[in-house]
Amino acid sequence: MRSVMTPVEAAWVAGLFEGEGCITWTSKGQAGLAVTSTDYDVIERLALLVGLGSVVAKSPRTEERKPYWIWKVGSQEDFLSVAEQIEPFLLSRRSARLREVRALLAQHQERVAARRAEKFRPGTGICRKGGHDRSAVGVTTQGHCAECDRIRNRTKKAKAREAAEAGVSP
Ligand SMILES: [Zn+2]
Repeated sequence: MRSVMTPVEAAWVAGLFEGEGCITWTSKGQAGLAVTSTDYDVIERLALLVGLGSVVAKSPRTEERKPYWIWKVGSQEDFLSVAEQIEPFLLSRRSARLREVRALLAQHQERVAARRAEKFRPGTGICRKGGHDRSAVGVTTQGHCAECDRIRNRTKKAKAREAAEAGVSP
């Protein structure tokens, strides 16, 4: 989901962030934006303006403290959408932090994509698609698992044969 705020709305949200906001990056590679407040109307307005994320009510640990609310983005897409909109209105410290976390997220997403693109599991040489052992089946010139390649070709040939038998040219 993508929310689009007016510049005035985005500036209001950025102002709130300067005081109560939190820009986070976890070791698991998750970027986050959160705002904590003991004023529900502030959090309600924030959620309404941003149009995404979720609000959680929190009970205080001790009785003397007031209950509070946390608004936070739910996905990396939401993070990027909100970050892009409020960044122009943030002061230098927070906008630097936001750029830093965006860069970390971009790097992380690149690494994940690169890992997915690898045909064999690192360290084991086992093919991701069919679980074949690289040292036993070999590798094609394109770096693919040779056994998966053979299976793919067999399937292609079988389909072509079926099509030919059915009187349809492939
Ligand atoms: Zn394979």
